[in-house]
Amino acid sequence: MKTSPQVSDYFSHAYRDARRRLLAAASGLRNRHGVMIDSRSIGARGPEGETLALDWIQFGARRPRRVVVLSSATHGVEGFLGSALQLATVHRLLPSLRLASDQAVVMQHANNPYGFAWLRRVNESNVDLNRNFVAHFDPTRCNEGYEDLYDALNPTDLDPDNEALRWASIARYAEARGDRAFQQAVSEGQYKYPQGLQFGGQAPAASRRALEALVAEHLADADRIAWLDIHTGLGESGACELISGASRDSAPFAAAREVWGESLKSAASGDSVSTPLNGLMDVGLASVVPARARFAFAVAEYGTYPINRVFSAFRADNWLHQFGDPTNPAEPRTRTIKAEILEAFRPDDEHWRRTVIAHGLDLMQRALSMRP
Ligand SMILES: [Zn+2]
Repeated sequence: MKTSPQVSDYFSHAYRDARRRLLAAASGLRNRHGVMIDSRSIGARGPEGETLALDWIQFGARRPRRVVVLSSATHGVEGFLGSALQLATVHRLLPSLRLASDQAVVMQHANNPYGFAWLRRVNESNVDLNRNFVAHFDPTRCNEGYEDLYDALNPTDLDPDNEALRWASIARYAEARGDRAFQQAVSEGQYKYPQGLQFGGQAPAASRRALEALVAEHLADADRIAWLDIHTGLGESGACELISGASRDSAPFAAAREVWGESLKSAASGDSVSTPLNGLMDVGLASVVPARARFAFAVAEYGTYPINRVFSAFRADNWLHQFGDPTNPAEPRTRTIKAEILEAFRPDDEHWRRTVIAHGLDLMQRALSMRP
């Protein structure tokens, strides 16, 4: 007898496993909806030499007018939840879904496959993909707070005495300016220091180019797009905040509100758990989708642990990749740092996993019931 998987089973152990399972499950719906898979490899390889690719998996119409997209792993290691939700959607929602002849559903797997495979938020060039969608790259662009905090944010060693001094200077900054100002200074996105945290790049990343090409090609006839991009790490454990990168008075924000409801927050307007950010994916993709399309994009941000723990995890990971031995899993420090970043963005906690998958499936239901 075939039993349906438990929620925690949707979470994979590694990118390669996640990708293989989703592609297999999608192919299983071939006779139900028709399935088109367009995989774009980014060139870089995973820890076991595996191909790293963005997989655009489209069910239903080939040239859809109405489309719902669910994407994962814009921030690499955050992709475990997004990928699990994609698998759950394919298992639990798509088999019974009736798609009209002009309608499609897309699982866009692994926007940043390198970060997913190597357990990093950033890509193969230390770039935060969700800061990379700027129109012009200015290699001097960096806010003053980040400049002031550079040495504390980007340690060159993990010597405990030096680290204590760095954390003290971070605490002083947050105390003097406030936690929000600290978050803004760190996370806004900088384009000056390729080895630093929150680097937005100095050219469009391979993943950005691949994603833009997929969207331009497959959504050329779309006039209603509801897009959900799954993230983890900010907010209360298990809570979800829906965030638009667009400002509150913009057309994309209005379109997203229509699908995702009144609770949608605007990062640009500063009313979200996220502070205003540079180079966001939704703002970039808005210029790639057809101009006439209603483009309702929301980041679904699921909280995991307190922000200090999450921040410490990816700060340590940046040290590891700049100064440590990240490709050697036998090295004790590598093992510790990688275990911690994985836990920070993919908690090993049944209750958390059940809560977030149930919530994510609800969001997908809402998008799928979108009126023409
Ligand atoms: Zn994220």
